[in-house]
Amino acid sequence: MLVKSAEFVCSNTEVSKLPESNLPEYAFIGRSNVGKSSLINAMTNKKGLAKTSQKPGKTQLINHFIINDNWYLVDLPGYGFAQTSKKNRAEWSKFIRHYLTRRENLQCVFVLIDSRHEPQKIDLDFCCWLGEKGLPFMLAFTKADKQSGVKSDQNVAKFKKALLSWFEEVPPHFVTSAEKKTGTEEILLAIHDINQN
Ligand code: GDP
Repeated sequence: MLVKSAEFVCSNTEVSKLPESNLPEYAFIGRSNVGKSSLINAMTNKKGLAKTSQKPGKTQLINHFIINDNWYLVDLPGYGFAQTSKKNRAEWSKFIRHYLTRRENLQCVFVLIDSRHEPQKIDLDFCCWLGEKGLPFMLAFTKADKQSGVKSDQNVAKFKKALLSWFEEVPPHFVTSAEKKTGTEEILLAIHDINQN
């Protein structure tokens, strides 16, 4: 899918104030610093669209972007950052869970996982929670340029194997690099396919 236009729509902290749910919507989520902003910018070919930062846990907003005037890309706040209180974490959780379970035009959640690491409990727990809620999701492994393809493939295989303890079938996955712009076209194609159905 060619991204002809990508525009920021709004930032929200309240589900009740989100834009009208008249277009299909795709949410991107993952641990802080996983490379979410970089991946969104690479997918949309717009460097400053989602803000990239070195400081984990900065974005605490639901950010809506409209792509090609016909679907929403949603940048959700990162989870699992260390420099925050338990109270903040609980707030994060409530607000995001609320969004994910109430947004009726949400078609798919892209869970971003750092391809450099062995499976992390926080990511697995989040995938299980999505599964329990019956929310469709796909996996996007990030920063694949940072190590060999073999290493990335090993970590992907381990993550999928871990998921098989909870799921009969594991969801589709993408191996991406925002740096090298790989895997982005595949994600856009998956979104295009869902939009067509
Ligand atoms: P976010 O907190 O998940 O939005 O993460 P960012 O997109 O801000 O990225 C966090 C850090 O990882 C930044 O220093 C990025 O430059 C770096 N980064 C993100 N994606 C990639 C990638 O694909 N390859 C490499 N080498 N670095 C990346």
